[in-house]
Amino acid sequence: MSSSAVSPSSLSRRSMLVGMAATLPLPLPPGRVAATPFPTFRHGAFEITVVSDGYLTLTGDILMPDAAPDVRRRMLGRLAGNGATAPVAANVPLIQAGDELILIDTGAGTHFQQSTGRLARNLSMAGIPRAAITKVVFTHAHPDHSGGTVTPDGRLLFPNARYYVSRSEWDFWTDPGFEVHMPPALHDFARGAQRDLFAVEERLTRLAPGDEVLPGVRIVATPGHTPGHVSVEIDGPEPLLIVGDACTNDLIFFEHPEWHFGFDTDRDLALKTRRVLLDRAATEKLKVLGYHWSHPGAGYVERRNGAYRLVRT
Ligand SMILES: [Zn+2]
Repeated sequence: MSSSAVSPSSLSRRSMLVGMAATLPLPLPPGRVAATPFPTFRHGAFEITVVSDGYLTLTGDILMPDAAPDVRRRMLGRLAGNGATAPVAANVPLIQAGDELILIDTGAGTHFQQSTGRLARNLSMAGIPRAAITKVVFTHAHPDHSGGTVTPDGRLLFPNARYYVSRSEWDFWTDPGFEVHMPPALHDFARGAQRDLFAVEERLTRLAPGDEVLPGVRIVATPGHTPGHVSVEIDGPEPLLIVGDACTNDLIFFEHPEWHFGFDTDRDLALKTRRVLLDRAATEKLKVLGYHWSHPGAGYVERRNGAYRLVRT
């Protein structure tokens, strides 16, 4: 699409089109200048806005299956949950780079819990028409990350975007023999991933680790949560690593990097990846941003008592 349709100027100068489910690029209403309702920060040549897709409610046995019952209850309380569940955020980073507007994941759409699927409406509130999105990078193809790709009537929610996924993620979920090769618990995940990935197949690029989506934005293999899960590394004063679900909670797995997560496909590989990631982030002083961390989810990783803590920015 033409860059003149949607100004590549700072998101903070975009007008708010509150409540408008825009489907086409719209001119900015004259005289309407308002801040985006979502936090925006500059990172080198890029501007990052963390747009909420809503929140999920997860049970304690998914969030921290290794925790003893009393420890689990206390942690759920710290996460503003009750004795059995806790709400976790869904943060979709939007990267602006010149004429490009790049979403990292598409949120849940109508394919997860009712408290999710707010991305399109929230983008609209920030003055970003869905049609203005030029690229979508999937960290992985779980329903809370790719479920916002297709509307219930089969149209693309981001109709002008080019899509990117790791080759290994594509290969895993699109296996025609998934009902034979995967355990039954993954069959619905595979059906959902196939729905979303096949819908964009003609405009999809399959990437290998290290490949760039555009100069200064590349994918990094962070497997385990799913076999082809990737993080997105963005050049800047220090690298920014958008970690997706390689680390799914900013309290639980920072304080207990030895614990597993209930939705990891390969739980031991995921644990190893998480430790390597947190260790690298602390050592190299990376900026990090997690999909399910308390909104907006950006900060730096510090070592503390043999574990870690997130220092928010
Ligand atoms: Zn997730």
